[in-house]
Formats: sequence, C-alpha cells, structure tokens
Amino acid sequence: METNILSICYLIGSVSFILGLKMLSHPATARKGNLVSAAGMTIAILGTILFYQSDGAHLHNYGWIVIALIIGTVIGSIAARKVHMTAMPEMVSIFNGMGGLCAALISIIEFGRLTTELQALRELAIVAGMVIGSVSFTGSIVAYGKLSGKLKDHSFPGQHIFNLVVLAVIVVLGGLLISGNFAEPAVLFYTILALSIVYGILFVMPIGGADMPVVISLLNSFTGIATACGGFLYNNPVMLTGGILVGSAGAILTILMCKAMNRSIKNVLIGSFGEAKTGEGPAAGGEQGDYKEISSADAAMVMGYAHKVMIVPGFGLAVAQAQHACHDLEKLLREKGVEVSYAIHPVAGRMPGQMNVLLAEADVSYDELLELEDANEQFADTDVVLILGANDVVNLAAENDPSSPIYGMPILEVGKAKTVIVNKRSMRPGYAGIENQLFFQPNTSMIFGDAKGVLHQLVSDVKAL
Ligand code: NDP
Repeated sequence: METNILSICYLIGSVSFILGLKMLSHPATARKGNLVSAAGMTIAILGTILFYQSDGAHLHNYGWIVIALIIGTVIGSIAARKVHMTAMPEMVSIFNGMGGLCAALISIIEFGRLTTELQALRELAIVAGMVIGSVSFTGSIVAYGKLSGKLKDHSFPGQHIFNLVVLAVIVVLGGLLISGNFAEPAVLFYTILALSIVYGILFVMPIGGADMPVVISLLNSFTGIATACGGFLYNNPVMLTGGILVGSAGAILTILMCKAMNRSIKNVLIGSFGEAKTGEGPAAGGEQGDYKEISSADAAMVMGYAHKVMIVPGFGLAVAQAQHACHDLEKLLREKGVEVSYAIHPVAGRMPGQMNVLLAEADVSYDELLELEDANEQFADTDVVLILGANDVVNLAAENDPSSPIYGMPILEVGKAKTVIVNKRSMRPGYAGIENQLFFQPNTSMIFGDAKGVLHQLVSDVKAL
C-alpha cells in the first residue's frame, strides 16, 4: 500500500516537472510553471520521507532530515527574497553548484556501500555522478566568483592541452575503476574525485569576455546529468526524470546559446572558449574618435516625430530597474502614433531570458519583442533606435575586429537605422571590456545618465511636445 502511494507521489512529481517546464517556455505562464514544479517537488520529498522503505524499514534520522529541511528552506527563501534581479545569475550559479555537490556526495556515499560482487553499471553511475557533480560544483563556484566580479579570468600557456590531459586521465582512471582491475579502488576513487574538483576550476577559470552564458547553461546541464545518475542509483523515478529534464533542457539551451554567439561546443568543453586574446582579460581598446551628445528634449523630439522606434534593452536597464519607465515611454510614443517595438538579443543582460522577464514585469506585451533575426531585418526601415544600457550586444567589434574576443558573435545591427540614441552612464565598456565603435558613428548620439532618470526625463519631454 505504502509503496503504491509513493509511486503515485513520484508520478505526480514527474508529471508536474514536465508540465512546469512546458509552462516556463512562455512568460505568461512561467510563474505558474514554477509553482507547479515546486508543488510536485514538495509532494515527491514528503512522499519519500513518509513512505520510502529500504529492506522493509522506513527512513530513520527524522531529526536530521527536519533540521536540514528547515535550514535549506530558510536560506533559500531569504536568498530568493533578498537577491536583486541583476544578481540572479550569481544565485543561479550557486544553487546549481549545490545541486552538483549533492550529486557528488550521493556518489561518494554509495561508493562506500558497494559490495564486492560485480556491479559495473552501478559503478559507472557512481563514477559518472561523482565526476560530473564535482566538475559542476567547483565550476559553478568559479562562475559565481567571476559573475560577481570577485574572480578574474586566469589562464596559463598550454592550458587547453593541460585541461584535455586532466580530462583524459579522469576518463582512463574511471574506466580502470569500473573494470575492477585495480587493487586499491578507494585510492583510485578519491584520486578521480580530486582531479574532477580541479578540472571544474580549470575548465571555467580561463573563460572570459562575453562567454559566460554558455558555460552557465552547460554547468546546469551537468548538474542535471549528475542528478539522473543519483536517480539511477536509488532507483528513484522522480530524481531520474528531474535530472534528465534539467540535463536535456540545459544541453538544448547550451546549443542555442552557442548558436547565438557563434561558438562551438568543442571549445567550451576544453575550457578555451572566449579566452581573452590579450591574455590579461578583455582588451580595453583605445580612443576611437569623437562622440556626439544629444539632449533629452532633442531625443524626445526625434522619437516623438518618428514613424518607427526600436528599443534595445541591455544589462544597464536591469541595473537601473528602469523597465516601468521604459514601458511608460513606449506607451506615450504609441499614443503619438509612433510604431514601437523591442529588439532582444539572446545574451542581453546576465541571464538567458533576463530582458524578457524584466519587460514582462513592466507588462510590456510579449508580441512587441523581436528576436535577433527579426529585429535585424527591421532596422533598415527604423527611424530611431534607442539603446538602453546595452553595449556588447550592439558592439561593432563582433563584426569588424577579428582580434576581438567577441568577434563572430551575431549582434543587433542597429547601425542600419537612421538615428541611434545610446543611453549609458559613461563611455565605459560593457561586460566583455571592449570599446564600442558604434558610439563614434556619425548617426549615433549619446545621452548619459542612469537609465531610470533619463527615461523619466524623456517621458516628460515627449509629453511636452
Ligand atoms: P553590457 O554588459 O555589455 O553593457 C551594459 C552597459 O550598461 C554598460 O556599458 C554600462 O555602461 C551600462 N549601464 C550600467 N548601468 C547602467 C545604468 N544604471 N543606466 C544606464 N546604463 C547603465 O550588457 P549587454 O546587455 O549589452 O550584454 C550582455 C553581456 O553580458 C554580453 O557580453 C553577454 O555575453 C554577457 N553575459 C550574458 C549572460 C546571459 O545569459 N545573458 C550571462 C553572463 C554574461 P556605463 O557603465 O557607462 O553606464
């Protein structure tokens, strides 16, 4: 009876993960999708605590389980409430790292419980879970450090080869362990663990410039695969489903990100991806000429009398929390008969989909958001492009400068529009640390200041037209 109830809990959990993931694919249903998946996870956890039996015995250690649940719930809810939207990628990295750590710990515990009889498949799941979970753990912690600016890019000559050698040694030692042809399996196991921890650091450390989004989604996929290994070990269907879903969703996102940034997954895997060509972090570039400034009143006039305006949001819009002011300007321009839409670059901001979430928060209609290809087709017949806190995603170096770390990344081709107005606070570069020739083009004007303040001023100037 209890086993049946547990199976039903797991079935509900698995189905809710799949439904939740489907709902997450559209901003209108994303919030509900999150709740549906969380409810499914709660049912699966409670089912396990109350009904799981091993060799006819229920779980014991209830005290420890409850303490761990309380600590996790308190830390998770405080962190989720306190974190600023702009720091979400760091939090996602930390949470992802914790998932990898859990998967690695499961493997370590299960390795200690292996019996001497031949259990090659079990050993394979243990080693794979331990290696992938450890790489994901240390890789995510390094990614957190880099995203939060606490760690810089570091690499040494020949690191690509060194990384490949470390990876090859892990695979060979793993094969040796599973084959059972080694007298001291525990020594081998903990050697592989140490190498995996080091590999996670080596793998993410040199990745720089604008390339972190791909690594984050790849590490996310790793955690999913490591969790699925745990699900296999415990014969736990909900863990297996959850792990496979995260693993495959992360892998698909990684491929899409690579495509969006014109990079190959091979380079990501050997840790050379986007390595700064200067060896000392991304190039800063020199002074590239004069730039023009435009006053808020003039910018309002140019936009207020335009036929078509395209807004390009970037990380700075999220920093300024100016999404509501941006929506106000959009509504006002629309009232004046201007056609307004948004051009969304797939890696704008610091998290996949961050711009979509930010604009959805301000009730900007999803139908007004154009993806990169569609936007690029429309710039030529756009009168004004208003860039709000975006830089790398419109950086001409991606097209013109083969020595640039972002060379080859598809950008929003805003220069095709008649007039480009760029709002940022200074001439400082964006995330990739590269100067942007766009700011010095004859049809570009700068409007300096915090995006929220500038947008408020633009709104009142457009009203006054
Ligand atoms: P960038 O980081 O390239 O540029 C943002 C610009 O916003 C800066 O140049 C900054 O200039 C300006 N800014 C900052 N604060 C404000 C403010 N309060 N008001 C107005 N402007 C402000 O952002 P993009 O969105 O163009 O590009 C994203 C970058 O992040 C890409 O390189 C991408 O690869 C990377 N990345 C993306 C991730 C993702 O998943 N989307 C994850 C990790 C990295 P100033 O200081 O002069 O104001």
